[in-house]
Amino acid sequence: MLRLHEVHAHYGAIHALRGISLEVKEGQIVTLIGANGAGKSSTLMTISGILRPTSGRIIFEDEDLTHLPSHAIVRRGISQVPEGRRIFPTLSVLENLEMGAYTRTDATQIRQDLDRVFQLFPLLKDRRSQPGGTLSGGEQQMLAIGRALMARPRLLLMDEPSLGLAPKLVETIFQVIQEINAQSTTILLVEQNAHMALRVATRGYVMEVGRIVLEDEAEKLMANGEVRSAYLGE
Ligand code: ATP
Repeated sequence: MLRLHEVHAHYGAIHALRGISLEVKEGQIVTLIGANGAGKSSTLMTISGILRPTSGRIIFEDEDLTHLPSHAIVRRGISQVPEGRRIFPTLSVLENLEMGAYTRTDATQIRQDLDRVFQLFPLLKDRRSQPGGTLSGGEQQMLAIGRALMARPRLLLMDEPSLGLAPKLVETIFQVIQEINAQSTTILLVEQNAHMALRVATRGYVMEVGRIVLEDEAEKLMANGEVRSAYLGE
């Protein structure tokens, strides 16, 4: 479904991505793990067209996305849940969700997707008139996920959805990730919580300083001694 070929990206003089090649197959949850600053967020931002690759290619469903603007990438079926939620604090919960559908005009289907988000997160329905900024961290994460789903993505990019959440909420978020995937949305998941990420993923990639250093089935990565000591705290 998605293929990155030797993607490089820079922030000025900083060479953040140094030849990333990866693949996500339809229906999978693929996770990208690695330490702070490894380039995980930059990889997602490059797929979304927010950070422009300096070389390499990004192919989604046989179409070259490498030079498309972000809004065109969203229209092709990729949306992102950004790190730190980035909800609109002064807009209501409902308006935040509607913003997720801003590239769409199919009112009936938008309505259906809103119902689907409210089914997934009944709490957002109860709070739909409340400003987004008054929600707790966990609720804002649900709103950020809901907003991304309002674009009706076939591929959902998730950046650290469990960051800063209490353990019980982390469990909830990972259950939601599996549920979204079961409803036929493919997921590329960036996580520092490698343990949980590898538990739900089919495949995983390990990043270090702008490069992929290891890739395998998630189960095999979990059993890998290096991964266990570097990322699973053993
Ligand atoms: P984290 O978990 O901390 O988000 P990460 O693996 O997602 O880490 P990136 O945020 O992609 O890593 O960062 C990769 C490299 O790019 C780092 O060296 C980082 O300092 C640098 N970088 C990221 N964003 C910017 C920016 N806006 N301007 C300059 N350098 C940046």
